[in-house]
Amino acid sequence: MKKITFILPAFNEEENIERLYKSIVGEFNTIDYIYEILLVNDGSTDRTLEKIKEIATHDKQVKYVSFSRNFGKEAAIYAGLQNATGDAVILMDSDLQHPASLVQEMIKGYEQGYHQVVACRNRKGESKIHRLLTGIFYSSVNKLSEVQLENGAGDFRLLSRKAVDSLLQLSENNRFSKGLYEWIGLSKKTFHYDNVERQFGESKWSFSDLFSYALDGILSFNTKPLRACLYIGVFILFCGLLYIATTFVGIVTKGITVPGYFTTISAVLLLGGIQLLSLGIIGEYIGRIYNEAKHRPHYIVEESNMQSPSKKVPRDVSPEDIRMIFTKNGISYRTKEEQR
Ligand code: UDP
Ligand code: MG
Repeated sequence: MKKITFILPAFNEEENIERLYKSIVGEFNTIDYIYEILLVNDGSTDRTLEKIKEIATHDKQVKYVSFSRNFGKEAAIYAGLQNATGDAVILMDSDLQHPASLVQEMIKGYEQGYHQVVACRNRKGESKIHRLLTGIFYSSVNKLSEVQLENGAGDFRLLSRKAVDSLLQLSENNRFSKGLYEWIGLSKKTFHYDNVERQFGESKWSFSDLFSYALDGILSFNTKPLRACLYIGVFILFCGLLYIATTFVGIVTKGITVPGYFTTISAVLLLGGIQLLSLGIIGEYIGRIYNEAKHRPHYIVEESNMQSPSKKVPRDVSPEDIRMIFTKNGISYRTKEEQR
C-alpha cells in the first residue's frame, strides 16, 4: 500500500495539535493509503511538544522532529521534506486553517498522475486592507520575477516523490517556498476552497514579517531590481549631461546668470535618494550572498523520534577513499581520513 506523509510545521499550536491529528486520521478510514504524520516543532514555547509526544506514544505512524529554537516555517517544511518517507507528501498548516477533508481531492489528483496538487484558497473573511496588500504583493512579485504565483496558492498542497526530491535539490538557505514550487515546474492541478479562519492560537505573521516576505519573493528569483538601478543611473546621468550641456551653452552665449538655490538642493536630494536606494538594493543582494556563503544548516534538531537520514557521500570524495559501513540508521560511510 502506498504511503502519504503529512508535513505539519507547528509553532505554539498546543490547542490545535490533537484536533488536527484526529481530523487527518479520520480521513484515512475511507482511503486506501497508509499515513505517516511528521510534526515539526519549530521551537514552540507552549506545550506543543508535549502534545506531539503524547500522540506519538500511542500512534507509531506519528513522527516528530523538534528544533532547538524557532527557525521559521520554511526551515520546518524543509526538515519535513528531508525526513518524509512517503510516496507522496501533503504539506499542511497545524492551525486547522487547512481542512483535512480536502485530502481526498488531493489524492485523486495524485492518482491522475499530477506531481503537484494545490489547494488554493479564496480571501473570504479577510479584511479589505489585508486583501489589498496581498493583491499588491502578488502583482509586484509576478511583474518583477521569473516565477508566476497564484493568489491564494500557498503551502497547502500534495507533492509527489519526484517533486519532493526536486525541492530538496534546491538547498538555498533563504527559502521562498511559493516560488520554489513554481520553479521546479512538473504537472500541476489546482482546485479552490473557501478560506477558513483561525480559531485557536494566533497568527505568527506581523506586518513587518509580511513586508520582508514580499521582499524575499521579489529578490529570491531575479536580479531585475539591480538592473533597474542601472537603468535609473543611466537615465539620471543622461539628464545631468543634458543639463550641463545646455547650461554651458547658456553661459557661453548669455554669460553667467545667478544659479538657483532650489535647483541645486533638489538635484542633491534627488541624486542622494536614488543612490541610497540603489545601495540598499545592492546591499540586500550582498546580504543574501553572505548568508548563503556561510553554508549554515537550515535548522538544528534538539530531539526526534526518527532515525536521522543516512549520511550522504559528498561529491568531492572519490570512491576509492571511502568505506561503506552499516549503522543502525542505515548505510553510511567513512572517508580515508576518518578510518585512520
Ligand atoms: N509556523 C512555524 N514557524 C513559525 C511560524 C509559523 O512553524 O515561525 C507554522 C504555524 O504553526 C502554522 C503555519 O506555520 O502551522 C502557518 O502559520 P500562521 O498560521 O501563523 O500563518 P498564517 O496562516 O497566518 O499565514
Ligand atoms: Mg494560519
